[in-house]
Amino acid sequence: MSGGNDTGSGTSSDVGSGSGTSSDVGSHSGTGTGGGVQRDIRRAVVTGGAGFVGSHLCDRLRDAGAAVVCVDNFLTGSADNVAHLAEDPGFELLVHDVTEPFDVAGPVDAVFHLASPASPHDYARHPLATLKVGAHGTLHALELAGRKGARFLLASTSEVYGDPQVHPQVESYWGNVNPIGPRSQYDEAKRFAEALTATHRAHLGFDTTIVRLFNTYGPRMRPMDGRAVPTFITQALAGRPITVAGDGLQTRSLCYVDDTVAGITAAARVGHPGPINIGNPAELTILDLADRVRDLCRSAAPTVFVPRPGDDPDLRRPDIGRATAELGWAPVVDLDKGLTATIDWFAARLAGAADTADVAGPANATEAAGAAAEPRTLTDL
Ligand code: NAD
Ligand code: UDP
Repeated sequence: MSGGNDTGSGTSSDVGSGSGTSSDVGSHSGTGTGGGVQRDIRRAVVTGGAGFVGSHLCDRLRDAGAAVVCVDNFLTGSADNVAHLAEDPGFELLVHDVTEPFDVAGPVDAVFHLASPASPHDYARHPLATLKVGAHGTLHALELAGRKGARFLLASTSEVYGDPQVHPQVESYWGNVNPIGPRSQYDEAKRFAEALTATHRAHLGFDTTIVRLFNTYGPRMRPMDGRAVPTFITQALAGRPITVAGDGLQTRSLCYVDDTVAGITAAARVGHPGPINIGNPAELTILDLADRVRDLCRSAAPTVFVPRPGDDPDLRRPDIGRATAELGWAPVVDLDKGLTATIDWFAARLAGAADTADVAGPANATEAAGAAAEPRTLTDL
């Protein structure tokens, strides 16, 4: 473990000031540094575009002048996340489950495939849907890209490294994943999605790239999604105990969503085959995260220690050398600024919420995990 002192990047910057690279999505052409052809993205499809990261990606693409078709079935996302784009003539919302084949009329320059439950709580609740969207959903999104001659970007994850034995994680590391463990539906779905993407590139000549996103946080996370950042913030704001799993000495490296999205659009523009880690190398323990959130919320909420989920990785920190060299990308939003923006968003939502039960979030990690243990039918999965 490297502790919390390797800030690497993440220098001070105002949140929302155009973090990451100067990637104007549609403004470059020519050969990318990664050997790919730089693409003008005039019209993009974003699967999972009504989710947390996807909705910010839709915003960034629209800000850069690209038309956007958002494809989502609202499994873990919401129309609320893109409601501000509803009247925008450059934005279309297609409500569809991408595990079923789909098509989009007209030209498409890039397909961003983000559809998938992403929080451990969500993929535990939807294990088969997670496996299916990683397999069938990725195939259908690739097939759309193939029909359109579009570049395909897979949003993969640091979870492909499992509980890593190499630290920080470099793209050449193959990972340490339990194929039948409690996180396997997500980890293996993403590993399969990477294999499917790499195979389409190697054997069918598809224009693809793979980004491995590390823990990302920011506005529009769901209070009940069970991830540490929204859970700690809702608990701290409510003055309820902050639920730290295990001894809290496990680490994560948190990237503000604007930085992550800047990395995604840079990768799509440059066209390096990947995989490319996109994350913030500033690593901290979960116990430190709980303290930071409590301080920034000016909360007196106590910490309680709760059981740690199975196969929860001990350490996580990206090596972003490839992203920096090939994309010219590095995160610029430091943790306190990003957390403050996120806390402000949650506080405003809490103040204005009608559905306080949802906004208040789970009382603890056990409560959040409890939903996963409820008996369900096959079609719920
Ligand atoms: P999210 O749950 O907020 O968004 C996922 C979106 O995909 C939701 O809107 C959901 O409704 C949609 N979706 C799921 N299954 C679908 C299906 N079959 N058809 C159509 N839409 C479907 O999660 P997120 O945090 O925004 O993550 C987005 C992507 O980024 C995911 O692929 C995730 O694996 C990846 N990622 C995220 C993080 C992170 O920290 N947020 C880290 C690593 C990777
Ligand atoms: N975590 C925690 N309390 C919570 C939720 C999560 O201590 O209420 C821990 C979790 O066990 C893990 C870390 O925070 O060690 C990050 O969890 P998260 O679900 O945010 O992301 P991931 O495990 O996918 O990295």
